[in-house]
Parts: sequence; C-alpha cells; structure tokens
Amino acid sequence: MKKKTCRQILYCIFLAVLILMGLFLKKKSDRTQAVNSQSVLAMQAEELPPRVALTFDDGPHRIYTRNLLDGLRERGVKATFFVVGENIPGNEELIRQMEEDGHLIGNHTYDHADISKMSDEENCRELRKTSELVKQITGHQTAYVRPPFGNWKESMDCRISMIAVKWTIDTLDWKSKNVEEIIRKVMQQVSDHDIILMHDYYATSVEAALQIVDRLKAEGYEFVTVEDLILT
Ligand SMILES: [Zn+2]
Repeated sequence: MKKKTCRQILYCIFLAVLILMGLFLKKKSDRTQAVNSQSVLAMQAEELPPRVALTFDDGPHRIYTRNLLDGLRERGVKATFFVVGENIPGNEELIRQMEEDGHLIGNHTYDHADISKMSDEENCRELRKTSELVKQITGHQTAYVRPPFGNWKESMDCRISMIAVKWTIDTLDWKSKNVEEIIRKVMQQVSDHDIILMHDYYATSVEAALQIVDRLKAEGYEFVTVEDLILT
C-alpha cells in the first residue's frame, strides 16, 4: 500500500515537470515568432522604394497630352490626369489611352471653374458633367477631384462623393514654361509620397515631366497614381 502511494507521488511529480517544461518551451517559441515577424516587417519597410505621384491638370491637350502619354507608356510609368470636361470632346481617344495604360483619371470641373465662387448646385453640375463625359468613354465615373486653383469648399464633401486631391510640390510649370526650372523645383524638394502638380497643356511641362521620370527612376523612385499613393 505504502509502495503504491510512493509510485503515485513520483508519477505526479513526473507529470508536473513535463507540464512545466511544455509551458517553458511554448513561451520561448512565441517570443521567437514575435521577434521573427517584427524583423520581417522592418525588412519590408526598408526594402520599399520611395513612391511619388505625378499629376497633370487642365488637359487633355490634342498634342501635348498625346506626347506625354506616349512618353509615359515607353517608360512604363503611371500618372494621374485631372481633366477639364470641355477639353474632352474631340480628344476621346486620349481619355481611352489613359484608361488603357492604367492612369487614374480625375475631375478638374467642366470649364475650370473656381469652386469657392460658385453655389454648391453649380459646382455639382460642373463636376457631374465632366464625370459623365469620362464615364461615356471609360465606363466608370471619376472618384477624385482636383479643385481648380486649389479652392475646395467643405460643404462640397456632403454634396458630392469625390475625394479632393491637392499637392505637395507645385512646379509652377504654367508660369515659368522653363524645362530646367521645372526639373530643378522637383529635384530640390522631392521625397517619398510626394504629389507633384504639373499641367499637360504646355510643351515645356511634358518635356520636363519625362526628364523628371528618368532622373527619379535612376534614383530608385517608383511612380504610382494618386489612388495607389493614398492606399499604400
Ligand atoms: Zn487647372
């Protein structure tokens, strides 16, 4: 009887040791897994290339937008075009190419209206008219708007389901019309996640944009649409 009790006690101790060892090993493996996943995340963050979004307002332009689209296609680069509705008739092929090449098409009102100076109803009409023209060509409406002159009204957020997009680098390309100056402005300021404002309505802007692409690509930058930039 005594011998049996002793065996039972020894068996209980053996079980307790096994449970403790199991707990110790599990804790250690959890800690190792946590460290490993942290290291993977840190490595991924380090390896991601810097990204920028080139944005072009005021087009489409029959000649300059065509040249720009061809140049971007050759380079495999995606950009964002905020189009003016009244420039679309006669340039439908350019809108089609933007869509085919994976560019993002945004809204820049119908006739480059200053949103801050008009009623919400008038602004909605302007934006819807352009969206409708784009939809007739691409099959879907635009979800993003670049308000002309950067003037947006808070009240518009409730009136129209579009995301207003501003910029972080203003090249003032429309003002200088100087290729070197436009390039210098970008190269001096650029960093990861910048949104660069340009206009596909001038030969100098197109020439500068393609050179900016070549230079920034050589520095390891990746070009994405505004939507991709916001989502990553
Ligand atoms: Zn504009």
